[in-house]
Amino acid sequence: MKFDYVIVGGGLAAVSAIEGIRSHDPSGSIVMLSRENHPPYQRPPLSKDLWFGKLTKDQLPIHDQSFYSEQRVDLWLRREVVEVDAARRAVWDDRGTMVGYGKLLIATGGWPRRLNVEGSDHEAIRYFRSLEDYLLLESRVSSFHHALVVGGGFIGCELAAALCHSGKEVTLLYPEEYPLRRVLPRDLGLFVADYYRERGVEAVSGESVVRFDDRGGEVMASTANGNSVTTHLVVIGIGIEPQTDLAEAAGLEVGNGIEVDEYARTSDEHIYAAGDVAEFPNVALGRRMRIEHWDHAEHHGRAAGVNMAGARQPYTHLPFFFSDLFDLGWEAVGDLDSSLETHAVWKEPFRKGVVYYLREDVVRGVLLWNTWNAVDWARGLIRDAKPMTSAIREAAVPET
Ligand SMILES: Cc1cc2nc3c(=O)[nH]c(=O)nc-3n(C[C@H](O)[C@H](O)[C@H](O)COP(=O)(O)OP(=O)(O)OC[C@H]3O[C@@H](n4cnc5c(N)ncnc54)[C@H](O)[C@@H]3O)c2cc1C
Repeated sequence: MKFDYVIVGGGLAAVSAIEGIRSHDPSGSIVMLSRENHPPYQRPPLSKDLWFGKLTKDQLPIHDQSFYSEQRVDLWLRREVVEVDAARRAVWDDRGTMVGYGKLLIATGGWPRRLNVEGSDHEAIRYFRSLEDYLLLESRVSSFHHALVVGGGFIGCELAAALCHSGKEVTLLYPEEYPLRRVLPRDLGLFVADYYRERGVEAVSGESVVRFDDRGGEVMASTANGNSVTTHLVVIGIGIEPQTDLAEAAGLEVGNGIEVDEYARTSDEHIYAAGDVAEFPNVALGRRMRIEHWDHAEHHGRAAGVNMAGARQPYTHLPFFFSDLFDLGWEAVGDLDSSLETHAVWKEPFRKGVVYYLREDVVRGVLLWNTWNAVDWARGLIRDAKPMTSAIREAAVPET
């Protein structure tokens, strides 16, 4: 069996590649192999909108089923690709089927990083990435009172808010001084920790779990500082590992992800990679990086598809990302690295404003905190790469 285009993965990057391919090749044969039970769906609502009643499960699919038939795509669900044979230009799935390709896209995303401490195989300890993970948590929500969320990154913070909103007692525990430490400037991060406490979340900074012990159905987490939390459920959100195994075994270049050029092409000219799994050259920021964000997965996946179909269109998109922490919502563009110098302009301190991330006085990142419809404006500031003159400072917060 052979297809012109084989797509491995069932997320946003994978499905966006279909649109990219079809914009240049209306007739080539396409197959998409996904190990998921469901056609591609939106992940961001799994940790926020669904819990806050802003969206329902039937709104999760990225496309209706009809999209795949209209685009003449064979969508093979519950099919895990286990090997890429680059010499033969074929992949093997877990049922022993070999599928040949003209062009291959690896869009396998990432998988939650495991917390490898004693007792971490306890049944009450969960990770959170997929719709199945959401469904499991949702099904259990009426049967526990307290949850421990480990990790102060996006997933940890969002889930802590979601579970608290669902009426649960929540402890959010993280080793850093404040949540979202890698992204937020210190004063804003400390505000977020206090804000969580006000909302009823027990936010514990400077702590990490060193072991888990069963306590008759409950689980006790012991921390590095000699404290303990006994709980009904633990959710661990300590980042993801890009799913690069297939690429590594196939001999592709892999660094902090599968290495691709500006056309999303790997070190093998017939194989492309996109989304969370790929390390790509960010043209606007002038450096290679791997990004784990929705807008990037969409545009990078589409760019990969376009180039697989024979176009030569470099990926120059400057992606934005977003999150909601209870009713603090934000969008951001560029390098949100808290080790950079930052300059905040608040309309209302820590509630509404803009934070600029500067390298040598040039804007490299912009955080739009409860400030809406300003993403393109922020992109312009970064692309212009002008010094952060006082004029820009004064005109800082766009009217929204
Ligand atoms: C709960 C949650 C909330 C998020 N919220 C936000 C947010 O608010 N804002 C934001 O910008 N980003 C958010 N993200 C990140 C965003 O969802 C990801 O960046 C995006 O989904 C990446 O898409 P992807 O297609 O690259 O990878 P993925 O979505 O991980 O898709 C990869 C797919 O490939 C499948 N797969 C892997 N290996 C194989 C194989 N060998 N064979 C077959 N199939 C395979 C996987 O099962 C999966 O379906 C969130 C992520 C999660 C999990």
